[in-house]
Amino acid sequence: MATLIPGPHPSRVNVIKFAESRRTKNFAVKGLAAEPSVQARTAYQIVFSDGTVMVDTGMDLAIHRFFGRGVEEPYFSESAARVARALADAKAIIVTHEHGDHIGGLIRSASFAELAPKTVLTRAQLDTLMNAPQMPELRPTREMAARLHVVDYVEAMAFAPGIVLIKAPGHTPGSQMVYVMLQSGKELLLAGDVAWHMDGVRLNAGKDAPWIKQPPELMAAELGWLNGLDRAEKNLSIVISHDEEQRRDYIARGILGDGFE
Ligand SMILES: [Zn+2]
Repeated sequence: MATLIPGPHPSRVNVIKFAESRRTKNFAVKGLAAEPSVQARTAYQIVFSDGTVMVDTGMDLAIHRFFGRGVEEPYFSESAARVARALADAKAIIVTHEHGDHIGGLIRSASFAELAPKTVLTRAQLDTLMNAPQMPELRPTREMAARLHVVDYVEAMAFAPGIVLIKAPGHTPGSQMVYVMLQSGKELLLAGDVAWHMDGVRLNAGKDAPWIKQPPELMAAELGWLNGLDRAEKNLSIVISHDEEQRRDYIARGILGDGFE
């Protein structure tokens, strides 16, 4: 499916970290010790020769504080501003899912009217935002919703040369993974929040966060799929949105670019 739409594939994928939250590791991977752990909050930029596709949109300080629940956690204003500029410059915007740390930078942007016409959400993502948003601030007005492109697909959809959307409901109803096949032939799978740490994929162990309500059978199926891919597909790098250790490792190994261009 990645070769279905003709055209040159992207050359690289960049990551940026715009905030952190501090949660012990047992929340991300059931069974691991309650040792200190940094969860990165990230967005991705897929780079073509003639433009970029953004995956996830960052979030403003108010949404960040919601996640902090009264605890002041690191927020990198310059990086957040860089995400906003990258959204403005992008040819298209998609999101892994409809939680505030992934879509807040779109919904709450002062430039929403400019960003919306190049944003493609799934029907499930928009339905959640309209009917059961993670927080009331994420609910778009009907006028805002009407400006967005909304698509629906069953299992997977070719989105652009080298990019395929893969439906992955569970963490949220509108969760999807983004598969990328680069010009080099290297493959990446932006897995969003199906897991919160790559150890969850390696150990095939789900989250243990009581505030997250996820259908266990869907999560087990998706985690099991990622676990099998990780063992079998040596050309594929699975990218976990909130895994700070993996982010550093992938940048060091040249799998992800450090920051946006
Ligand atoms: Zn998240």
